[in-house]
Amino acid sequence: MRCPVCKAENALDVTCRRCKADLSLLVTLEDSRAYALAEAAQAAAAGDAGQTLVHAEAAHRLRADAESWRWLAVGSLLARDFNLALACWRAAQ
Ligand SMILES: [Zn+2]
Repeated sequence: MRCPVCKAENALDVTCRRCKADLSLLVTLEDSRAYALAEAAQAAAAGDAGQTLVHAEAAHRLRADAESWRWLAVGSLLARDFNLALACWRAAQ
């Protein structure tokens, strides 16, 4: 996790190791995002397209990256929306 103040890379600590900025909101955001991705994975394992997309979109809104795009692609595949799945997969590359 990169400090928005000094750009130092940090583990999930609530204080930046270099400049001591308060990173607790970022840690909360990353925790929520990790939980949403885990929920997406659980929904996908159960074959629930709608819930996979709901949780993947929640994670994606918190912070978009290749992993959130991949879960959006999985949800789209389960929903049999192959054009959307392809677009999400390409965005993840
Ligand atoms: Zn910092």
